[in-house]
Amino acid sequence: MVTIAERLNNAYDRIAKAQQKYATEQEVALLAVSKTKPVELIEQAYAAGQRLFGESYVQEAVDKVRHFNQQKDIEWHFIGPIQSNKSRQIAEHFSWVQSVDRLKIARRLNEQRPNNLMPLKVLIQVNISDDEQKSGCALSELDELAAYIDDARQLELRGLMTITAQTDDPHQQLEYFRQMKACFDRLKAQYQQLDTLSMGMSGDLEMAIQGGATMVRIGTDIFGKRQ
Ligand SMILES: *Cc1c(COP(=O)(O)O)cnc(C)c1O
Repeated sequence: MVTIAERLNNAYDRIAKAQQKYATEQEVALLAVSKTKPVELIEQAYAAGQRLFGESYVQEAVDKVRHFNQQKDIEWHFIGPIQSNKSRQIAEHFSWVQSVDRLKIARRLNEQRPNNLMPLKVLIQVNISDDEQKSGCALSELDELAAYIDDARQLELRGLMTITAQTDDPHQQLEYFRQMKACFDRLKAQYQQLDTLSMGMSGDLEMAIQGGATMVRIGTDIFGKRQ
């Protein structure tokens, strides 16, 4: 049986090889996406040294954050769609949220982030492939949303995230990643604290790194298929 530690090693290997192959300069962080997976598997990943975890479903995620509240060095990232009535839970329990895609949600997170916590680190989710099925803000809405988040006292704008539509055309896929990188660079010229471009999953992390990702989000290749 392949252990979680071995699977994590393989994922870090893939990242290192892609960085070498494409001679990329940026560091690439690995977010272990543990949604739907039991705490036992997260414990194994933690024991193997993993510290960044991503979750998509609010109630499940909050239960896990509470379960691991002694492990202060875990960094929890919320990466799922955000309904208004769930924003408070996210504001109170996470250190990062990668899926902010509209002003209304950004406002609520800013108001609901407790004052005794560090500002919530935010990535704006961009719908770069203009996919009707996917959430994410349109490129035309990006500047206004970025300006609001940058200004908000309890939010800290750190970059962009995208989930690209599945396509069989690798050129198109790479093109989306490159467009994201161009957006990121343009925003970074205005907001120097930006350091995170989150894109690429189990199936396409090499191409995302080629395109300029600084964080890849890997679920299946670490924890196995989801039901
Ligand atoms: C589930 C999920 C992932 C992980 O996808 P895998 O294909 O299992 O690696 C990455 N990002 C987001 C936003 C997800 O919801």
